[in-house]
Amino acid sequence: MAQNKIYIIDVTNRDGVQTAKLGLAKLEKTLINIYLNEMGIFQSEFGFPVTRHETNYLNANLELAEIGLLKPIRLSGWIRALREDVDLAFEKVPQLKHLNVSISTSEQMIKHKFLGKIDYQGVIKEMTDAVKRARQLGAGSVGVNAEDASRTRMEYLIEFAQAAKEAGADRIRYCDTLGFDDPFTIYQRVKTLAEKVRIDIELHCHNDLGMAVATSLAGAKGALDAGVAAYINTTVNGMGERAGNADLVSVILALRKSSGFQDRYILDERVDLTKAWKIAKYASYAFGVPIPVNQPAVGANAFAHESGIHADGALKDRRNYELYDFEELGRGEPEIIETGRQIVAGEYSGIKGFRNVYGKLEIEFKDDAQATRILELVRYANVHTQKPLTDGELRFIAQYPEQAEKILTVTP
Ligand SMILES: [Zn+2]
Repeated sequence: MAQNKIYIIDVTNRDGVQTAKLGLAKLEKTLINIYLNEMGIFQSEFGFPVTRHETNYLNANLELAEIGLLKPIRLSGWIRALREDVDLAFEKVPQLKHLNVSISTSEQMIKHKFLGKIDYQGVIKEMTDAVKRARQLGAGSVGVNAEDASRTRMEYLIEFAQAAKEAGADRIRYCDTLGFDDPFTIYQRVKTLAEKVRIDIELHCHNDLGMAVATSLAGAKGALDAGVAAYINTTVNGMGERAGNADLVSVILALRKSSGFQDRYILDERVDLTKAWKIAKYASYAFGVPIPVNQPAVGANAFAHESGIHADGALKDRRNYELYDFEELGRGEPEIIETGRQIVAGEYSGIKGFRNVYGKLEIEFKDDAQATRILELVRYANVHTQKPLTDGELRFIAQYPEQAEKILTVTP
C-alpha cells in the first residue's frame, strides 16, 4: 500500500481574513489563490459562500478555475454545519465543489455558546444533516470541522467523527481553536481518533501558545502513524485570529527539513517552495502587515550573519549555519526600487500614465477601447485596495478583465 501523505489546505482567505482589524480586498484574495495554485498547494479555503459580499468573488474565482488559471488547486467554501447554509451556499455559488462545514463539539462551547439550544446529540444531527445535504447537492468533497476539538471529550469526538464519516464526509478537521494542544497531546488524540474512525484528518492549529506549527506537524504524524492521510491548515505569514494560525512556509520547511520528518513523512510533492518568497511578500503587502525580521525563511534576518564566528562559518560552507538555502525559497533576486520618477496606476489615473505602467510590464492593448476598459477596471481596483496596484494585480486585470470586473463588483 502506498504511504499516506501530508497535504496543505491554506485558509488565509477564510481564517486569515477573520483577523481583527485586518482584511483583504476581493482582488487580493484572488491573487492569493493564484499564488497558492502556482505554489502547488492542494486546496484554498477561499471564502464564505453564504456571505453576500463574497458571492461575486467566489463565482469569478470558480470561473477562473474553469478556464484553467486556478487549476489544479481546489477551492473550498466554509459554512456552518446547517442544512440551510448548505442550501444557500449552492444557491449563491452553484459551481461550488468543495466544502467544509463547521460546528462546535466541546462542552465549553456546547454549553456556553449554544446555551442549551442544542445538546451533544443535536450537534451530531445538525452536522449529519448538513453533510448529507451537501452530498445530495453534488459536493465533490466535504470536510467536517469539529470546532474546539482539542477541548472535546475524546469519546464524543470519536462518536461525532464516526457519524460524519457515515453521513459521507471525506475528512474531519481537528480544530485546535484556542491553541490549547501541545505536540504530545495532539499526536495522541489525533492518532486515537484516526485509528478508531479510519478517516483522513485535517489539522487546524492556532498559535496562542506559540506552538501552531509544532502541533500541526505532531497531529499530522498522528494521522499518518494511524494509517490515514493528513491535511494541514495554514495561513500565509501565519495571519489569523488572535495570535494567528500555522504559518504556510514554516510548515512546509518543517516537513521537508526537520530531522524527524524529512525523508520519513511525505509532503505532497507538488508543493513548490521557490514560490514562498513571492506569496509571503504579497500577503504582507496586501494585509499591510510587515514580515517580522526574524520570521523563518522569509524574514529580513533569516539569512543574515553578523557575529564573527557565524559569518566566517557561513562563508566557508553555508551548511555550517544555514539549514536550507535562500534560493530554495525564491529569494535572492535584487529588488529594484524606483528612485527617480514613478508613474503608478491609481483611482484617478489617466490614459498616458496608464499606458506607461503597462508598457513596463510589456503588456499591449489591441486598441484604444480595450485600453480604456482596462484603465477603468484598474481605477476601480485601486478604489478597492487603496494602495498602488502590484505588477501581479495589473497583469491579472489586463488578462482576465471579465473576471476582474465581477470580483470588483459588490452590490449591497
Ligand atoms: Zn481557526
